[in-house]
Parts: sequence; structure tokens; C-alpha cells
Amino acid sequence: MQQFELSNLEKLMLKRKIMRKKRIREMVIILIVVVLALCGVLGFTLYKNGGKLPAKQLNVKTLITPDYVDEQLINVGFARTGVKLVEINNIVIHYVGNPDTSAQNNRDYFNKADTTVCSHFVIGLDGEVIQCIPLDEKSNASNNRNLDTISIEVCHPDESGKFNDATYSSLVKLTAWLCDNSGLKAKDVIRHYDITGKECPKYFVDNESEWKNFLEDVKEELKNY
Ligand SMILES: [Zn+2]
Repeated sequence: MQQFELSNLEKLMLKRKIMRKKRIREMVIILIVVVLALCGVLGFTLYKNGGKLPAKQLNVKTLITPDYVDEQLINVGFARTGVKLVEINNIVIHYVGNPDTSAQNNRDYFNKADTTVCSHFVIGLDGEVIQCIPLDEKSNASNNRNLDTISIEVCHPDESGKFNDATYSSLVKLTAWLCDNSGLKAKDVIRHYDITGKECPKYFVDNESEWKNFLEDVKEELKNY
């Protein structure tokens, strides 16, 4: 009798052992399939990208700028390196610091072989907007923030650095468009001064309330999007 019960218990133990082994085997098979599938996906991605992992998608809706922007890209050289942006976290406002020069003057200066600075955009005294660098490339205007910002240089009639109405209105329009295009808000618009403490753009550093007003105007313009 005792022998019979023990035998039953042994059978039960054996059954459980077999089931456990079966479950472990199943889990190992599932793990191998998952690992093989992941290797397959990675291998296919590398194959499609010529051996490289795909770069993170830049946070822009489009690389095509609005009609009022005159695209005059500068040559790849010292100032334009051709290095791609990783992401866009801020729009940086500058002033050219050279009174009464035009957007064209400044763009042509950026294009000179021995110039090492350049911005994505220059806004002129008649409100004209020239694009010098593609939206997905790094400019060279904002020091250690060149890799994750879009830069705008703004022309001004005199030493005060104050922008005239035509220039100002294009600046508001372009800044709002850039914010919308990169999923940014007015609070993400900063001055060169906010990065390095440099007095740039001079008028907006000297007049903090005018800077605040400008950000409000950008915010208002963003409501149109
Ligand atoms: Zn600056």
C-alpha cells in the first residue's frame, strides 16, 4: 500500500519535472526567436543604410522655407561646414553689429573663403530675408549651441542696434515660422546674450522690456499657425 502511494507521488514528481523542462525549452526557443528577429531587423536596417544606423530624425516639419525667404546658400568651406544638426532646441537672435549694412552684404561676407562665422538667416533693412545655411545644417554663430539651434542675424540702421519696423516685422514672422516648423514655443527663442553673455543683439540686451515685447509678438504670431 505504502509502496503504491510512493509510486504515485513519484509519478507526479516526474510529470512535474517533465513539464518544467518543457516550459524551459519553450521559453529558450521563444528567446532565440526574439533575438534572431531583432538581429534580422538590425541587419536589414544596417543593410538599407549602407552599414550605418539611421540618424535621429531632425525635428522639422519641412526643410523648405516660406516664399518670402530668398535662398542664397553659401559655399561649404570654413563657415559652412556641412555638418548636420542633431536637433533644434532653440532659435537664437543676433544683430550684425555693423550698422547700415544690408542682408546681402552680410550674406556675401559669410561666403568669403576666410570667414569662419555664418548664420542660417540674415534679415535686412527692407525686411528682406536671406537664407545662407540649410535648416538641417549647423551654422557658426552661437558658440557651443551651434549644433542644436537655428540662428538669425538681424541688420540695424545705427549703433543702437535697434531694428526698424520692416526688419522687426520680418523677424517676428520668420521666428514664429521657425518655432512652428520645429515644434518650439516663443519661450524657446533666445538671445546670443543668453548663451555667452555677449551684448548681442545689443538693443534687446540693453532693453529687456523690448525683448519681452518681441517674445510676446512672436507668441501672438504663432496663434496664426
Ligand atoms: Zn550674436
